[in-house]
Amino acid sequence: MQVWLNDRVVPLEQAHISPFDRGFLFGDGIYELVRFFDGVGMCMTAHMRRLERSLRLTRIEGFTAADAERAMHAVLQAEGLRDAAVYLQITRGAPPMRSHLPPTGLQPTSFAYAVPCGDLDSLRTPGTIAVSVQPDQRWQRCEIKSISLMGAVLPMLEAASQQAEEAVLVRDGVLSEGSSSNILIVKNGVLATPPIDDDPSILHGTVREAALQAARALGLQVQERRVQQAELRAADEVLVASSRRIVASVTRIDDTPFGDGAPGPVACRLLDRMREDLRAQIAATKAR
Ligand code: PLP
Repeated sequence: MQVWLNDRVVPLEQAHISPFDRGFLFGDGIYELVRFFDGVGMCMTAHMRRLERSLRLTRIEGFTAADAERAMHAVLQAEGLRDAAVYLQITRGAPPMRSHLPPTGLQPTSFAYAVPCGDLDSLRTPGTIAVSVQPDQRWQRCEIKSISLMGAVLPMLEAASQQAEEAVLVRDGVLSEGSSSNILIVKNGVLATPPIDDDPSILHGTVREAALQAARALGLQVQERRVQQAELRAADEVLVASSRRIVASVTRIDDTPFGDGAPGPVACRLLDRMREDLRAQIAATKAR
């Protein structure tokens, strides 16, 4: 496997990072995961906006959105992939000594790799997923896409022990998001999802944004509002949105089956629309 490390594409076995790297010692870094379809990054503008926000809020300097795009395309090219997920991580760098306060002038460490994923046709039908509701015990700056993910790993371990593939996180009886996704519910044809603009405890999900855009284009009513935990089970559909899964329909909540086991109609319509939007974006990129 060929990976990106600090401005170079190298074989994985040659990608060495100092144990003093602040990502390793402090979880002091940020990341992005972008899905590529036919070589075109889905929601690239939103990903780059979020990356820049994460860099700014963490005060990690010396890496830009342009560097990110270069790294992603470099690993795709090195691996000969066009339909893939690219993971990119930027840490504050590797100082000579461990100290909570980072020295000034550190060179950030950037690392990226690509794995093959489904093409546009794989988006014909939403996946299905079992979820487990877990308390949201994460920090309060979840708009930063931080690599410090213990608050997401622990609920996932708990979810996995219940044969669930995603944890739905709840704070004080109110839905926040999935451990690595955003959650949307459908009730009586209305799509509702927790707001992000005034709530830094939720990530600005790029697929969430694309799904809401698709819903509005389809004429569906959209509500960005607080969603109570009780509304989950009472919903007609529950959707999990992320770059990894794009849109998946929930078919089990904790130990109870949810829905009829098949992807819900709104999930299907949204994914159809998103696939068409992507197809148009790919065509426009190729025409440039
Ligand atoms: N929320 C959290 C906590 C996440 O970790 C992720 C993705 O990793 C998302 C939401 C979904 O974001 P996106 O749609 O940009 O992949």
